[in-house]
Amino acid sequence: MTEPDAGSNSHNISTTATRDGDIYRLNGTKYYISGCDEAEAVLVVTRTSRDEATGYGKLSLFVVDLDSPGIDKTLIPVEITAPEKQFTLFFDNVEVPRERLLGEEGEGLRQVFMGLNPERIMSAAMAVGIGRYALSKATSYATERSVWGTPIGRHQGLAHPLAKAKVDLEMAKLMYQKAAWEYDNDIDAGEAANMSKYAAAEAALACLDQAIQT
Ligand SMILES: Cc1cc2nc3c(=O)[nH]c(=O)nc-3n(C[C@H](O)[C@H](O)[C@H](O)COP(=O)(O)OP(=O)(O)OC[C@H]3O[C@@H](n4cnc5c(N)ncnc54)[C@H](O)[C@@H]3O)c2cc1C
Repeated sequence: MTEPDAGSNSHNISTTATRDGDIYRLNGTKYYISGCDEAEAVLVVTRTSRDEATGYGKLSLFVVDLDSPGIDKTLIPVEITAPEKQFTLFFDNVEVPRERLLGEEGEGLRQVFMGLNPERIMSAAMAVGIGRYALSKATSYATERSVWGTPIGRHQGLAHPLAKAKVDLEMAKLMYQKAAWEYDNDIDAGEAANMSKYAAAEAALACLDQAIQT
């Protein structure tokens, strides 16, 4: 999805897919695309036309084989420690069969947001896991470490902030479970998914901070 001039603003996507008989021709540049060295295909968000009223691009999604002629990729060096690598992907007149169009032409924005909600829920779950890990490290240390004959966790100055971090983390967990339940039951999960990602990120950072301070 992401392009140099279309990050959080997906309306700005400039990679085009132009219908040519039974194929579409893709042209443009995507960057920060994860895992291109391992995947066989990528889901590409393109602009197939423009909404005259709003000026926004009407988006369409394609499943594109990464070994298609006209695709080139360049590794982006990033500081983040992650199992997958990020790439700039260049599309130079890449031919994609019509049947690789996902759903309806021009309905891509709705499909993108349908996909972003489960991703947000997953990010929230990951953040809660990170927070839980940090808290377990902190509480183990606070229980084992004794100074003046008392485990340091007995002191309220350490115990209360850890307890608060745990409360916030559990509430964030409930929020992503609510979002996941809505998503699983075909209820619009947009609001809960966004709230849970925010709450879980905040809670996880607080857990990490408190663990470091412990
Ligand atoms: C490790 C990594 C892996 C990635 N993998 C992928 C991938 O596989 N596929 C893919 O498509 N993309 C991927 N991305 C790209 C990622 O999704 C984009 O970075 C993201 O969409 C934000 O776009 P941007 O970086 O251009 O930020 P920008 O859009 O330039 O935004 C910069 C900052 O401004 C803020 N901002 C922007 N507009 C507003 C506004 N209207 N109001 C308030 N604040 C605003 C943003 O919140 C952000 O903090 C990856 C990025 C990273 C770092």
